[in-house]
Amino acid sequence: MATERTLSIIKPDATRRNLTGKINAKFEDAGLRIIAQKRIQLTKAQAGEFYAVHKERPFYDELCEFMASAPVVVQVLEGENAIAKNREVMGATNPADAAPGTIRAEFAESVGENSVHGSDAPDTAAEEIAFYFSGLELVG
Ligand code: UDP
Ligand code: MG
Repeated sequence: MATERTLSIIKPDATRRNLTGKINAKFEDAGLRIIAQKRIQLTKAQAGEFYAVHKERPFYDELCEFMASAPVVVQVLEGENAIAKNREVMGATNPADAAPGTIRAEFAESVGENSVHGSDAPDTAAEEIAFYFSGLELVG
């Protein structure tokens, strides 16, 4: 196992319900360190660029609208095996399938409004971190 960094987003459904602290506690309790964090408001175009990989999917337009509907908190999480560990802490995409105790099991409202985003592999993690953060903002 190696120390990794992954990109996390606390989504609009969660910032709206004032859940930033409760979600961050889940990351920290799992040994993930929040090494960078900022609250921003995405435009629909910026959300579309971030989620371009899903452009052809039927939920793409709704997803972009949702991500631009309220502020999000973008974060870099660091730790041993951070990419997989974060996916574990998040739980399955659909909260109905998410394991008990995971963020999505506890907080997600639906398969679309599911409280958090997390990178899925080392190459996408690096791209997604660079989408939101400059090297100067990553102090470790
Ligand atoms: N999504 C959706 N409907 C679906 C599948 C996904 O609205 O049937 C949304 C949901 O917000 C999800 C995001 O699109 O988190 C990205 O989908 P992905 O399959 O990458 O899931 P994730 O990696 O977030 O678990
Ligand atoms: Mg994904």
